[in-house]
Amino acid sequence: MLHIEKLKKVYRGGKIAVDDLTLDIQKGEFIAFIGTSGSGKTTALRMLNRMVEPTSGTVTINGKDMMKINPVTLRRSIGYVIQQIGLMPHMTIRDNITLVPRLLQWQKEKSEATARHLISLVNLPESYLDYYPSQLSGGQQQRIGVIRALAAEQDIILMDEPFGALDPITRDTLQDLIKELQRNLNKTIIFVTHDMDEAIKLADKIAIMHEGKLIQFDTPDNILANPINNFVKEFIGSHRLIQQKPNFKTVDEVMIKAISITIERSLDEAIRLMVKSRVDTLFVTDGDNRLLGYLNVESLTGDARSKKSVSEVYIKDIVYMKTGSKLQDSVRRILKRNLNNIPVVDNQNRLIGLITRANIVDIVYETIWGDEEQELKDS
Ligand code: ADP
Ligand code: MG
Repeated sequence: MLHIEKLKKVYRGGKIAVDDLTLDIQKGEFIAFIGTSGSGKTTALRMLNRMVEPTSGTVTINGKDMMKINPVTLRRSIGYVIQQIGLMPHMTIRDNITLVPRLLQWQKEKSEATARHLISLVNLPESYLDYYPSQLSGGQQQRIGVIRALAAEQDIILMDEPFGALDPITRDTLQDLIKELQRNLNKTIIFVTHDMDEAIKLADKIAIMHEGKLIQFDTPDNILANPINNFVKEFIGSHRLIQQKPNFKTVDEVMIKAISITIERSLDEAIRLMVKSRVDTLFVTDGDNRLLGYLNVESLTGDARSKKSVSEVYIKDIVYMKTGSKLQDSVRRILKRNLNNIPVVDNQNRLIGLITRANIVDIVYETIWGDEEQELKDS
């Protein structure tokens, strides 16, 4: 729906703010422009609705050259939201929400209906439309701020760091809200941020800018998995690359040694082995190390005490993972079946290792907290 071709902005004085930007944006996509300060994000965004006149290049909206669309029509199809402008204190919530529609000279009934529709989308009562901002809590005002951006029903909405100055919790809530509204209302949103986490969370595609140039344009997953060059790699931050890693990690990378016993052994031996190795589960294998089942503390009490051998009491119903399977699948399986651990077998069903809740927790902590520790060390 939006085709940007060799878009360029040279400011007076010769500063090249945006250099030959070419990209395509589809209807309903959430696009994040990200880059360091001065990389040309704001300039690029503002050229899309001609708040900044391009020096050269073209922008086509639904097949039409933007330069040939008159500015009022253009504003009706592209909205622009700058860094968290607050609500107007002397205007009611209704008037705040319908500010842009009124500027675009909508009919009164239509803007009224829109105000009622939008306030219902953020679970606030219609009666609030008559209130003034100061009568709402801070969080409620923020929600009004977000729906106001959608009120004019433009298909494309440009947002320049709208959540930049908010505290992390409010930012998180509003990110969820804008994403949900964007999906439900099928809006195309082009969003500028300098926060990679925000871009990853919200965007269908991320455009990484550097010194006016588009360096990489792809889905968050593809960018994280295949950063095109060292600049992108550094920009993403090594911690985020690691953070993504658990998704691709296999059980083999984190499994520990499984303590096992062969099926022909006696129960006495099994108990002694468990005590000695301090484990509550013992895996039972055949002579070729093939997994047959397991013993745990419960299976050794009660009735079992009169039995003599492992083969008489071991539990055959066992859940396991195959070598090479994804770690996240093992996590899912452990949680779903409320297991304490899950053995890993090779293609011949031979026991090769064990995933425990404890070692999964370690990995989760490593990826969540590890980078923070790293940052502390770096600073
Ligand atoms: P970003 O939003 O990524 O921080 P900008 O688009 O605001 O970057 O700016 C890109 C470059 O263009 C910067 O070097 C900036 O100083 C320069 N620039 C921005 N606006 C103007 C202007 N009106 N006149 C001259 N230079 C400008
Ligand atoms: Mg900017």
